[in-house]
Amino acid sequence: MTTIGRAQSMSVAARHVAFSVPGAPEQVDEFTCCSCLLAQHRSQLTRQAGAMGYGTECES
Ligand SMILES: [Zn+2]
Repeated sequence: MTTIGRAQSMSVAARHVAFSVPGAPEQVDEFTCCSCLLAQHRSQLTRQAGAMGYGTECES
């Protein structure tokens, strides 16, 4: 019973991570690319666009 409960809570946590990844960077030193909608590191930021920006790979 305890083992099943632990496995269920782990799968819930994994699902939460999968949902929170696209377009919602939690790290302060990350931004969301307007073009590919992926969280990228600030060192990749080429152009700021409000709360979002464009990465080096998408702004060329
Ligand atoms: Zn991009």
